[in-house]
Amino acid sequence: MVRHLSDLRGAFCDTEAYAQLLAHSDPLLYRVTNIEDHVGEGDLHYGLGILMPGKVGDEYFMTKGHFHAWRPAAELYIGLRGRGMMVLENERTGESNAVALEANSTVYVPGHTAHRTINIGHEPLVYWGVLSSAAGHDYGSVARRNFRLVVVEADGKPRVMERQEYLKQMEGLQR
Ligand code: MN
Repeated sequence: MVRHLSDLRGAFCDTEAYAQLLAHSDPLLYRVTNIEDHVGEGDLHYGLGILMPGKVGDEYFMTKGHFHAWRPAAELYIGLRGRGMMVLENERTGESNAVALEANSTVYVPGHTAHRTINIGHEPLVYWGVLSSAAGHDYGSVARRNFRLVVVEADGKPRVMERQEYLKQMEGLQR
């Protein structure tokens, strides 16, 4: 699966920066190779993700994010290379948080939790995701609502912000 900038319309906050970037080129954002050979009860699927470095405005390149179609299915992410974060949002509790995804570290994504990967570094972010073969993917719910948290560069460093707060800040700067 390959996603370019044009596939993430509506995902980034800075719509002007998005349009400007897209006017020049349509860069590769990420590539996920899913290995789904085993489909029996109790089996696992796994996928290798490669997310490129870059930003749209101040917002780092990221994946679309998704829920699992089978909501209780959890997933384990294993960082191989690069510096990243994951934004997690629990559908039932409304709880949101952002955690580090780095080489030789893991992130446990519980069930009922939308998850998005973000590259906050200068090299490709490479990771494995491992989950039940019964999990499936639901991209639609995230595309309609987006995540409540954004990860943006501020003073040269990643900052986690509420989307609404960031949008307000951007509006203020344009005045
Ligand atoms: Mn997943």
